[in-house]
Amino acid sequence: MPRPIQATIHTNALANNLNRVRGVLQKTSAPSKVWAVVKANAYGHGIEAAVGGFADADGLALLDLDEAVRAREAGWSKPILLLEGPFQMADLRTVGQYQLTPVIHNLEQLTMLREFDGSPLDIYVKIDTGMTRLGFVPANLQQAFDQVDALMREGKVGKIVYMTHFACADQPDGLDDPLRRFAQMASDRPGQWCLSNSAASLMHADQVAVFAAEHGRSLWSRPGICLYGGSPLNDRSASELNLKPAMTLKSELISVKDVAAGQGIGYGHIYVAERSMRVGVVACGYADGYPRHAPTGTPISVNGQMTRILGRVSMDMIMVDLSGVRSAGVGAPVVLWGEGGPPVDQVAQAAGTISYELLSAVTARVPRVVV
Ligand SMILES: *Cc1c(COP(=O)(O)O)cnc(C)c1O
Repeated sequence: MPRPIQATIHTNALANNLNRVRGVLQKTSAPSKVWAVVKANAYGHGIEAAVGGFADADGLALLDLDEAVRAREAGWSKPILLLEGPFQMADLRTVGQYQLTPVIHNLEQLTMLREFDGSPLDIYVKIDTGMTRLGFVPANLQQAFDQVDALMREGKVGKIVYMTHFACADQPDGLDDPLRRFAQMASDRPGQWCLSNSAASLMHADQVAVFAAEHGRSLWSRPGICLYGGSPLNDRSASELNLKPAMTLKSELISVKDVAAGQGIGYGHIYVAERSMRVGVVACGYADGYPRHAPTGTPISVNGQMTRILGRVSMDMIMVDLSGVRSAGVGAPVVLWGEGGPPVDQVAQAAGTISYELLSAVTARVPRVVV
């Protein structure tokens, strides 16, 4: 018998969530094409599952070249956006061979393009509008544009899309300043624009559409987390946003015991039973990607009933409170998050993190079963 833990990947939820974001974007005055962001092994769900679930997307966006190759080998024939562009000269050969679209965000990458000897590449030019991460800034923007124009004249660059990434897209006025800066930096360059992540797509779709329409531009958006059923907004749950969990992390109880009041449970005895109780041991631990810092009280489902974890998460196991959980013996089903269990956002919040981290941290030893 294999260890009972598994991550079920729901392809229909991936497709549902994509459809849901598209619906929001399509209702605006500037309908947007959609890159499904599948970096970090499709936020832990698997590139191959994503290729199936996001068949209707206009492209896939990621940043590891080997994930791009995997997507092509799984049959993805539409565009693939390389969010961080080439890291070194040799990457451009892969870019050409697999027809990838690189983001260009620094002058070093422009030098690589100049030295590259291949057919013309379509590129995204990234502009830093206040995130202070990747992208050209006012101090090097003109130099970048001059070099891009030279590359176009030499036939090394084909179509260009201008993009930025928002630092505060989940805040009500979070796009005001970045959009102003983007217009200042990019509006006299022809080309489409690629702006919104999940939070901007679900919270600011109209503002972005009006902005693009004013400048006569077509849009691309880059949703990620919402496609997997995680909420990108602090004050709205995934189910309120009509998003479905795309991953269900489940396992089973592998031991059950009766514990007396005063008995310490797990490493460090950081939880001590306040009364006599039944305790279950779940085959899932931090080596599976469950957060070690999830405290006592983090929600978990056993035998279809919601309960809580107890004490410190071990490498391979978690103890759970079986008080009030009916007939939960060895072999009882456990859902750590997803369908039939707590939303991944709730587990993340209890552990002081975000769903992105939990989903992408599920480790390789957890079998993914795509349904
Ligand atoms: C990860 C990422 C996204 C997707 O972000 P979500 O918050 O998951 O929607 C979009 N654009 C860039 C540049 C990213 O790195």
